[in-house]
Parts: sequence; structure tokens; C-alpha cells
Amino acid sequence: MRRLGANGMREYRKRIVVMRKSDKEIELMAQAGAITGAALQATLDALRPGVTTAEVDKIAEQVIRDAGAVPSFKGFRGYPASTCIEINDVVVHGIPSEDVVVEEGDIVGVDVGAYFEGFHGDTAATLAIGDVSDEARDLISVTEASLRAGIDAAQAGNRLKAIPMAIQECVEAAGFSVVRQLLGHGIGRQMHEPPQVPNYYSPGEFPDYELQLRPGIVLAIEPMVNVGGVAVTVDSDGWTTRTADGSLSAHFEHTIAVTKDGPRILTARD
Ligand code: MG
Repeated sequence: MRRLGANGMREYRKRIVVMRKSDKEIELMAQAGAITGAALQATLDALRPGVTTAEVDKIAEQVIRDAGAVPSFKGFRGYPASTCIEINDVVVHGIPSEDVVVEEGDIVGVDVGAYFEGFHGDTAATLAIGDVSDEARDLISVTEASLRAGIDAAQAGNRLKAIPMAIQECVEAAGFSVVRQLLGHGIGRQMHEPPQVPNYYSPGEFPDYELQLRPGIVLAIEPMVNVGGVAVTVDSDGWTTRTADGSLSAHFEHTIAVTKDGPRILTARD
């Protein structure tokens, strides 16, 4: 999760120091990531028609706490839950609720973070609930493929912009659009650290595009992809972010480390 207000992007840009993690720190991040991945998997296993998003959230929190970790999202800028749950036109930051029931035909994204031994993990995935439209199924598979393309571009020696370029190409080739207003991010002792990791390339817009990727840089790469236009709106709760045109949106995310042997996914699921 990363929320940007009108000025948020500009403020965040001033912090340009990108921390690299030691091998030992990356091993700790892999532990945080494994817990985060397990929490996400447990929620995906629980998604079915009739379940409330509050129930799904509780499952994630239990997995995280049973592992001796802490939900990263809970209390973050006052966020009330351990997960963000994103149904249909919700792009990100849907607040779990006893009043929101998952239904057959929905597409449901779950975004979860866990803090363990001083480090955060952050991961998300979107699932089809039973029979969904061909378009919805395509959206999910393209979004997941775009994450894979972005991860594959996270090679030491590349500029950071290789990641958004790979994601955007994958998404737009399929006729979908990449959300601009929300970004991936560096991650470590803080859930959101420099650099910014946009999912689109717009020359000159982000100084971080030119960052050279080096071993020890850890990123949360998270394409958010819409069937329709790029515009999003935020509900009156200050969090729930939807497509402005009501079209479907999907979201996948992994926390990855750049290593000399290529990108390593720290939030892999079994
Ligand atoms: Mg994130």
C-alpha cells in the first residue's frame, strides 16, 4: 500500500537515498517475506462466495501473529486492518468489513504486509471467485504476467526504469491500462522507502527512473492494472481507491531483492 496525495509524490521525491541491504538483512527480509506470503496464501485459500472481507482479514492477521510477526498495515497512518481487500473496481486500499461479502463472479485482490525482526514484507494477488468474465480472467493473468516481467527486469546493472517499461509494455499490449497515481516502492526497515517504483515510464517524471539497480536493493513491485482508463478516485473513507470509470482493476505485488544472481522473490508462496 502506498498512498499519494496531491503533494505526496513531490515530498517523497526529496528522499533520494536508497538503502542497500546486507546479505544478512536480506535473509531476515526473506523471513518477513515468507510470513507475508503465507498470510496471503491463507487469505486466497479462504476466498469464496459468502465470506466477508473482515473474516479474510482476520485469517491474515492470525497467520502473521502466530508467526511472531506484526501486521505492517494495521495502524499505518491510522489504517484499521491487516489487509487491504480490493473487489472488482477497487484498485487498492479497500478496508475489510463485516458488511462486504465476497460474491460469485467477483475478482478479489488481497494486499498484506508483515513486520518481523525489524523488516517488512509486502505482497498482493488477485483471484477470480468462481465464474468470471473472459475480460476479468484476462485482466488477472495480464496483471500477474506484468509483475513477472517487472521482476525479470530487476537485474543488477539495469536502470530502475527497466521495471516500469517492462510492466507497461505487457499491460498495454493487452489493451489494459496501468494506474499512475499509485506506485511501488523500496522496502526494508520501513514499509515505504526510496526509490519510487512507478508502473509506467514517462521520461523525466521520476528521478528514480535513472537509479542503477545494484545487489542489496529491495523493492516492492506492484502493478495495478485497469480494464478502462487510468484515473482513480478515493472514497470518503479516505482509503478505498476505485477506478474512476467503474472498470475492473487487478493488483499483484512481490517484495524482491536485487542480487548478483538476479532478482530474488522474498514473498514467494508455496
Ligand atoms: Mg506495497
